[in-house]
Amino acid sequence: MDVLKQITDLREELNQHNYNYYVLDQPIISDFDFDQKLKQLEQLEQQHPQYFDENSPTLRVGGVITKNFETVPHIYRMYSLDNSYSKEDLLDWEKRVQKGLGDVEVSYTCELKYDGASISITYENGVLKRALTRGDGFQGDDVTNNIKTIKSVPIRLKGDFPPKFDIRGEIILPFKGFEKMNQDLIEIGEAPYSNPRNTASGSLKLQDSAEVARRPLECLLYAIVGDQLPFATQFEALEKARSWGFKVPPIAKLAMNMESVFEFIDYWDQHRQDLPYETDGVVVKVNSIDHQQELGYTSKSPRWAIAYKFKTEQAETVLKNITYQVGRTGAITPVANLEAVQLAGTTVRRASLHNADQIEKLDIREGDSVYVEKGGEIIPKIVGVNFELRPADSQPTIYIDHCPECQTKLVRKEGEVQHYCPNFYGCPPQIIGRIQHYISRKAMDIEGLGGETVALLVNNRLIENYADLYELQKEAVLPLERMAEKSADNLIKGIEKSKEVPFERVLYALGIRYVGETVAKKLALHYKNIDALSRATLMDLILVDEIGEKIAQSVVDFFENQENKILINRLKDFGVQFELVEKESTAISDRFAGQVFVVSGVFEQFSREDLKQLIEDHGGKIGSSISAKTNYVVAGDKMGPAKLEKANKLKITILSEQDFIDLIQQ
Ligand code: AMP
Ligand code: ZN
Repeated sequence: MDVLKQITDLREELNQHNYNYYVLDQPIISDFDFDQKLKQLEQLEQQHPQYFDENSPTLRVGGVITKNFETVPHIYRMYSLDNSYSKEDLLDWEKRVQKGLGDVEVSYTCELKYDGASISITYENGVLKRALTRGDGFQGDDVTNNIKTIKSVPIRLKGDFPPKFDIRGEIILPFKGFEKMNQDLIEIGEAPYSNPRNTASGSLKLQDSAEVARRPLECLLYAIVGDQLPFATQFEALEKARSWGFKVPPIAKLAMNMESVFEFIDYWDQHRQDLPYETDGVVVKVNSIDHQQELGYTSKSPRWAIAYKFKTEQAETVLKNITYQVGRTGAITPVANLEAVQLAGTTVRRASLHNADQIEKLDIREGDSVYVEKGGEIIPKIVGVNFELRPADSQPTIYIDHCPECQTKLVRKEGEVQHYCPNFYGCPPQIIGRIQHYISRKAMDIEGLGGETVALLVNNRLIENYADLYELQKEAVLPLERMAEKSADNLIKGIEKSKEVPFERVLYALGIRYVGETVAKKLALHYKNIDALSRATLMDLILVDEIGEKIAQSVVDFFENQENKILINRLKDFGVQFELVEKESTAISDRFAGQVFVVSGVFEQFSREDLKQLIEDHGGKIGSSISAKTNYVVAGDKMGPAKLEKANKLKITILSEQDFIDLIQQ
């Protein structure tokens, strides 16, 4: 076949699969098949560079570095929205609209107000040309390369689109993806992000588009601007946008009067917790574009639209003082200590302040009366200051520049929001935190030794690092608080036993920055032993699947460090595992090689564990939940209906116990 045709076909096919997956949420091929096709396209493109296309789906993984984002004027100004907080406000607005339009019937489109970062994307002849942030409304920053990595943003449009237009929307981070990102951060000892909205908006200006590509961002669209557009109402505009391939939430409602608008508002005020992303209100827009034009704009916002903000429960209280915590990696987190106050059924005494920027932006000071709110996060946050109650002698907050624990001067790397204490080896919370990480369940899982005991051991100068653990003597720990004969024995036994923990977990336990459980596994599998890994150069590491520059650099730094070298040599001498033990293969056949099974329900002839073992013995893999990656679901009794439905929807083969036995015996 003609190579060019092969390339274009693959591109088209992959674009369609991206659309199915990211816009419709209805994938029709497995992730595995998708990756195969993508790899195939990558290869063809490499072999035939003359067919390069900046809009190829292969470029969606990013990789473009933007040092400075160019400022570009918006063709059509990006306005703000007027806010309203009550139904009376809305009725007043309706009066103004009616007055402006004369005695005509007015209908409205109700949409959710998505809480993220606004974006304006220009399409020309159905191709994404440019994406700009909102900026000051007149001009924004060109973030095209970053936006192209967001898979729900179409690069090429479908259907009957106008030759040129701008489309506006909000870049958001759904809760689930946000939580996953934070779990990953916590796992590697980093401070979690404060909220989905800031993280989404921060993502737009990242220099490395590959990093943007890794974030589960989405783009929800709500407005089209341009000349001679093929619709007469806002509601139709949304439908058109959807038909061209954009992600437009189906929640929008056409309301014939204010009663109906209120119904929409009440409904979503009650149900917004069920949405996968954050919303802070509803946007009501006059539906007819003619009417919109007649009403026009104030200096700041359209007269034909208004935002209604949901109420969030707030409390006002006094900020007694700000203290600073030092984490295991040296990251500094400022904490607000509050005069106790009731909020949404709980007593709040502390709130997170996140970082220096946040404090400066809100101008938060000790002694201030502050507003506290509970968002999706567990720890409440300070959202503002009641400046009227600010004491006369109030002083601006000066962020600490030295570590509160060891007095070392703090550093803040370019592009990072957090301050760090660089005194890696001498800062007590860092020393304790690292050892606590080392003994934790997913790492060395040392029985008989808990986090508090580690702190005791360090504070009593019995240990300074995790290698010292292996030299601990029972006699030395016995005098410690709450330590008895038995517990001391257990502690020593537990430490001894940790010498059997496999290499990949040891690697995770070392606490190399950015090396979480998954990355540790990848590195262990790839390098097989610590010597090979410690010799790896930056380039070597980057070539390992899924290892980015940040991780690679951190690994190199770790092994270049003299103290780490000594630590590792000592651990080696104690007999800690620094080599991958290849699992002895129990495989009976490779009949199921490359196949992913999900096992669910109760079985007659096997226990569930036996069944899983059997699958693995035949080369298959066990998946934890049903997804597009699943090839087979083995369904026993009492498998939940939701799972069954999901499997059916994804067109996954469902095997009964007997089907499965037949398959094995074939
Ligand atoms: P504000 O920032 O409070 O002036 O609110 C205006 C912003 O709300 C716009 O710039 C959009 O980024 C955002 N927004 C979110 N959802 C919508 C929507 N459905 N329609 C219009 N604007 C929206
Ligand atoms: Zn310190």
